[in-house]
Amino acid sequence: MIYIFLGVPGAGKGTIASKLVNEKNFKHISTGDVFRENIRNKTKIGLEVEKLIAEGNLVPDELTNKIATQKILEFNNNDKLILDGYPRTIDQAKYLDKFLSDNQSFISGVIYMDADQDVVIKRISSRFLSENGTTHNSLIEKIIEEKGKFYLSDGTKLSRRADDEPINVKQRFVEYVNKTSPLLKYYEEKGIVSKVDSNKDIDTIFNSIVDSIESFN
Ligand code: AMP
Repeated sequence: MIYIFLGVPGAGKGTIASKLVNEKNFKHISTGDVFRENIRNKTKIGLEVEKLIAEGNLVPDELTNKIATQKILEFNNNDKLILDGYPRTIDQAKYLDKFLSDNQSFISGVIYMDADQDVVIKRISSRFLSENGTTHNSLIEKIIEEKGKFYLSDGTKLSRRADDEPINVKQRFVEYVNKTSPLLKYYEEKGIVSKVDSNKDIDTIFNSIVDSIESFN
């Protein structure tokens, strides 16, 4: 079963996906996480995408499709798999449709996480990353600031994502509006979208999404 999480940066896609992995035995692919891992490990792909990502631009479709579909092949058709941040363009969506049908699979449902701009900006500006790539947020957990540096209570060092700086966030919204938002209509025409109010607190969003996923099955 494949579920797509669609929504603006900061809508909570990654947070809810992690909660579904931890509490409901879902699997999760985040193309953003895959790219960041490549950047941390300074791979060829990492070096290729680092500047694009830092400045809030999308990675070209060809590379993204290759990375995403390679990952999908690591899972079984019976896994409850969330695609978080993929697809992000109409061409990626078409590529994914063809790839899944070639592999006797299909999209079980699309969750559209609808959130207001002021809410997502607040979430993004309180978001931090640990050195091993996990996301943390001072809105929902304790983050300590000391001399301009940030830590979790257990001393884990945190940093800010380069693309979470205000000027780069602005560009991410531009990319979202121009390239990603048309996906909503694309999937609505297939009749597979469930909309969730993502302005709420995490537990409320989580429960709505669990209900939506049950309604797809
Ligand atoms: P995310 O962690 O989902 O916010 O993604 C971080 C960044 O990775 C995005 O702003 C893009 O630069 C890049 N990225 C992630 N997924 C995709 C995708 N499906 N297509 C193009 N670029 C992507």
